[in-house]
Amino acid sequence: MLLKGKEVADKINEEILTRIERIYEEGIVPTLAIIRVGNNPSDIAYENGAIKKANMLGIKVEKFIGQEDILEEDLIEIVKALNKDNDIHGILVLRPLPKHIDDDIIRNTIAPEKDIDGISDLSMAGVFTNTNLGFPPCTAEAAVSILKHYNIDLAGKKVVVIGRSLVIGKPVAMMLLNENSTVTICHSRTPLQQVEKLCREADIIVTAVGKIGTVTSSHVNGHQIIVDVGINFDENGKMVGDANAVELEDHVKGITPVPGGVGSVTTSILMSHVIKAIK
Ligand code: NAP
Repeated sequence: MLLKGKEVADKINEEILTRIERIYEEGIVPTLAIIRVGNNPSDIAYENGAIKKANMLGIKVEKFIGQEDILEEDLIEIVKALNKDNDIHGILVLRPLPKHIDDDIIRNTIAPEKDIDGISDLSMAGVFTNTNLGFPPCTAEAAVSILKHYNIDLAGKKVVVIGRSLVIGKPVAMMLLNENSTVTICHSRTPLQQVEKLCREADIIVTAVGKIGTVTSSHVNGHQIIVDVGINFDENGKMVGDANAVELEDHVKGITPVPGGVGSVTTSILMSHVIKAIK
């Protein structure tokens, strides 16, 4: 079975639309600030996707675009001003930032209650302590939302997460631990045979590596759920995941396709964070 992201995103969007009506009645205009430095095409593509989704849901977007050579202190001032601005509910900083800017300083300048992309250390602390401090990173939450939407049992289930980045692997592992799964994390130093063995024994595999063929038929036992976070491009320029959903679909219980899986849920999660940030 293909675990498609669209129906998960549609449900999140519906919930946002219901809540947004009441928010407007209270005289509040939900507003997302997007900060972009320079004109990187992938930043612009992500920004346009976010604006399109925001427009669809009635969330206002204010853009703050800095030149590629913007001074770090000027960028810090922009973030601090947005932190103080009561008309701004969420702040999204498009990254990676140019090399002369310290990413750690910028992401930790964002007030946790406006850190809707979950990039600050305080947001990460919220994930680890399972509290409402900040927000979980959107992609990690999208992966967990898909599992919940399709009523996949998580408590007591064996989960293997492949990848340990701060953006996806670690937070998704912690969020699944918070759901009472038994979680094992694999990374580039885990011997390949061990990854295969752990995966074969798992109930759920979350792959967030960024390499074609990370999960193949040697990793599956016929009963698993695979959440594929990876985004790769094959030799024909076609977007593909870490696993091949077409090949594996008949050999697993469920698998998220790429495209059309986790990625299609991520911007809806981002918008749901803007709505939560209003509180
Ligand atoms: P990343 O920072 O490069 O992390 C990749 C992780 O994979 C690292 O922890 C690395 O281990 C591990 N790894 C590398 N080779 C491995 C191997 N052979 N076996 C096991 N683990 C291995 O990437 P990321 O930012 O987490 O992103 C992961 C993927 O998700 C990428 O394809 C990215 O494009 C995609 N992504 C998707 C979305 C979405 O919305 N769907 C959003 C963001 C990113 P080490 O720590 O040991 O190096």
